[in-house]
Amino acid sequence: MSSVPQHILDALTRVDMPGMTPAAAASEFLDLDGLRVPVFRCGALVVGSGAAGLRAAVELKRGGLDVLVATMSPYGGTSACSGSDKQTLHTAGTSRKGDDFEELAKALGAGGGMDADQAYIEAVGSINAMAGLQYLGLPLPTDRFGAALRYQTDHDDVGRATSCGPRTSRLMVKVLAEEALRLGVPFRRRCEAVHLLKDVTGAVTGVVAVDRDHGANPWGLCVILAGRTVLATGGPGELFRDSVYPRHCYGSLGMALEAGAETCNLTECQFGIGTRREEFPWNLSGTYVQVIPRVFSRDAQGVEREFLGDWFRTTRELASNIFRKGYQWPFHASRMLDYQSSVVDLAIFHETRQGRTVYLDFLRNPAPVPGGAPFSLDDLDPDVRTYLERNHALQERPIDRLVRMNPLAIELYRMHGTDIAQAPLPFNVNHQHLNGGVAVDAWMRASLPNLYAVGEVAGTHGVTRPGGAALNAGQVGGLRVATHCRAHGAPVPTQVPDAAVEAGIRTAVTLARGGRGPATAALRDEIQTRMSDHAGFICPVDGIAPALAAARTLRQRVFTDGVAITSPERSAEAFRWRHLALLSEAMLLALDTYVARGGGSRGARAYCAGDGTRQPTARTVDTAAWRFREERPEHREEKLVVTWVSPSLGIQTRHLRQREDLDTIFFEKDWAHFLGGTVYADEFRHHAVALPSVPSPSPG
Ligand SMILES: Cc1cc2nc3c(=O)[nH]c(=O)nc-3n(C[C@H](O)[C@H](O)[C@H](O)COP(=O)(O)OP(=O)(O)OC[C@H]3O[C@@H](n4cnc5c(N)ncnc54)[C@H](O)[C@@H]3O)c2cc1C
Repeated sequence: MSSVPQHILDALTRVDMPGMTPAAAASEFLDLDGLRVPVFRCGALVVGSGAAGLRAAVELKRGGLDVLVATMSPYGGTSACSGSDKQTLHTAGTSRKGDDFEELAKALGAGGGMDADQAYIEAVGSINAMAGLQYLGLPLPTDRFGAALRYQTDHDDVGRATSCGPRTSRLMVKVLAEEALRLGVPFRRRCEAVHLLKDVTGAVTGVVAVDRDHGANPWGLCVILAGRTVLATGGPGELFRDSVYPRHCYGSLGMALEAGAETCNLTECQFGIGTRREEFPWNLSGTYVQVIPRVFSRDAQGVEREFLGDWFRTTRELASNIFRKGYQWPFHASRMLDYQSSVVDLAIFHETRQGRTVYLDFLRNPAPVPGGAPFSLDDLDPDVRTYLERNHALQERPIDRLVRMNPLAIELYRMHGTDIAQAPLPFNVNHQHLNGGVAVDAWMRASLPNLYAVGEVAGTHGVTRPGGAALNAGQVGGLRVATHCRAHGAPVPTQVPDAAVEAGIRTAVTLARGGRGPATAALRDEIQTRMSDHAGFICPVDGIAPALAAARTLRQRVFTDGVAITSPERSAEAFRWRHLALLSEAMLLALDTYVARGGGSRGARAYCAGDGTRQPTARTVDTAAWRFREERPEHREEKLVVTWVSPSLGIQTRHLRQREDLDTIFFEKDWAHFLGGTVYADEFRHHAVALPSVPSPSPG
């Protein structure tokens, strides 16, 4: 079998996590009409303990600040629980010649919609982000000279990706959690922030949370007052039915929206092939498809179909495009043209909509297209053949090629009860990442004072992002937040909550008790179905406005009647689905506005309409239903910003932030800014020039 010893494979796949330093018990309580609510205080509150939150917490603590981490689940979330064949960390430094940060920044923002300063910050910051992780013990592979081993990934023309294998982000969480333990960072381990608190000035002063580790009241409610609040709550995995996120990823975008924080780029998601949440959610990128397994479907009666033969013209084309899903993993509309790799995603979409389940079969090579030549390793496109040759992966069966190239990929599924060396693997096309999120400035500050956002909850990515850029952005974001808080301080609030804060606490207490509105299961089904059917990677333009209207009606009902919960122990659910109802409306509003302004297909979404100017290619399937609109170049230069201004959502377009000319930065001149601390000042905001608001085509 594999040339890598089993104990090494085990260490990279079965990653045990360290303990955490528990936070102190409550010594202060609020009495709200007989309800006893514990109050905790800290300088900097980090909400969430994924790779981004832990990096922020560790760096804040190193800066001497009083940090508390409140997390819904210490080792939950995508960093700890997700992966792909080899999870990617995007880095600077490549091709044995070092890197050019400006080129790297261009690559990060290549799809448009990304602030130029942010792209440069992520490019430059990638060096520290990666070096810090290596210092903490992240086992990133190197050659015998110490140079990091790198490879090419999605939207990456150069090869800046590196990896510790399928559990790279879990290993990142592990080394950061070990550091947090060493530094004594305290954790509230089962503590979910449900409501942001603002004082009379509108500044964020902490959160109301549901904490299952105190028994002061049956709803688990507590208050955490903080000088600075850092959201690091990850992405909204539960927003879509077809989702490869682990279960129970809600993020906190809805909570931030409801508090009045600006959000941006909510139209920009990433979708791609993976195994389903019902079994073991995992991305099928890289070698899972580069070994060219057979792809087939099965109906309810067990009848199998070699459906890709309806789409590709030759067996060579079919096989080469299965391979290319390895590094062209996210769906991209333009790759549905000319028999390219996203035709595979469209074909899977079509097949699953017919009620059939699609599988990868690693024991057999792809079946030939009707009337075509049989599959042969000697009849592949040159890039595909060369890759397999270079990796000595010319074995007879896909499973043998996988053993040769990436035995961890097999081990991973074994660990979760599926042996892909024995049976086919069901999969589909899923929502995997939200590129947009809380709008932040170059220091990761949200539009509300004292609020920051890092990791996936922050809307820092543009339309496309190279594979691995999410993990890099979270690490760089954590470093930036800590640098900013260290420069400006994060004092522990000492005062008694003012009238606005108390009103916020009372609102949360009311919501926690639940209401007479829809039950959580009904809300989940309605929201997830609508989002997957009307805001997925195949997005019929005609369906967006009705979906928005329905989402708005649902949100209004939830805001008026509350969410029905069955017991006080389930109080957090009332908030989760309230917030997702609002987020779903916000995302549909952004999509509706985008298409009303003539927006076309880009990133991972095809906007399909009868007046579409492009049509996917297929050998025999009629693809007229998926004619799609093309992107307008000017839309790459702006973002859509959605904000809740009670009682409705508003939307505006905004220019991207630019970056000053680097030739104006000189050591002597800028050293003074560094020494005097003005590098941490607000000047970045001046680069953000807002365009006039556009009225929403579907106001409200
Ligand atoms: C299958 C899959 C594969 C991926 N592969 C890659 C890849 O190869 N490279 C890459 O760069 N990116 C990849 N991504 C994306 C990347 O993994 C995520 O964007 C990243 O891990 C997010 O990290 P985070 O720290 O922001 O959030 P998470 O890791 O999701 O952590 C969020 C934390 O917040 C907690 N939390 C959530 N809500 C609350 C709340 N209200 N109160 C308190 N705590 C809360 C959670 O319990 C968790 O601890 C992948 C994603 C998926 C789903």
